[in-house]
Amino acid sequence: MPLPRDSRCQHVKPDGSRCRAPRVRGSPYCVFHDPGFADQGAEARRRGGLNRAEQLRLAVLPEDTPDLPLKTVGDIIEAVEATFNMVRRGQLDARIGNCLAVLCQVQLKAIEGSDLEQRIAALEGRQNARIAR
Ligand SMILES: [Zn+2]
Repeated sequence: MPLPRDSRCQHVKPDGSRCRAPRVRGSPYCVFHDPGFADQGAEARRRGGLNRAEQLRLAVLPEDTPDLPLKTVGDIIEAVEATFNMVRRGQLDARIGNCLAVLCQVQLKAIEGSDLEQRIAALEGRQNARIAR
């Protein structure tokens, strides 16, 4: 059902047609064209924008934070412990913590694979030495 003409916004668009949105109670204009609502809308958008920007500002460590070694399983255990506690204290964003956890898993697999290769090479070396005798 169309709104009665007098309940519509009084704003006239640049093309000369009237705005078709319903009026705000006590105002001749709609929420888009009432000056009071326009200010509120701008303020809400500004606040919303800041909040969104604040959300995106991740908790990170300072740039001069020293690198952690990740050469051994022990190194990785220490790095995971340190990261765990930094996320708990809010010094490091949980999304970064998740990323580091995944990278630690990759590194751990690589170390395990490398260890296995070395053990196989050692076994093959011993086998070849026995055959040569
Ligand atoms: Zn309007």
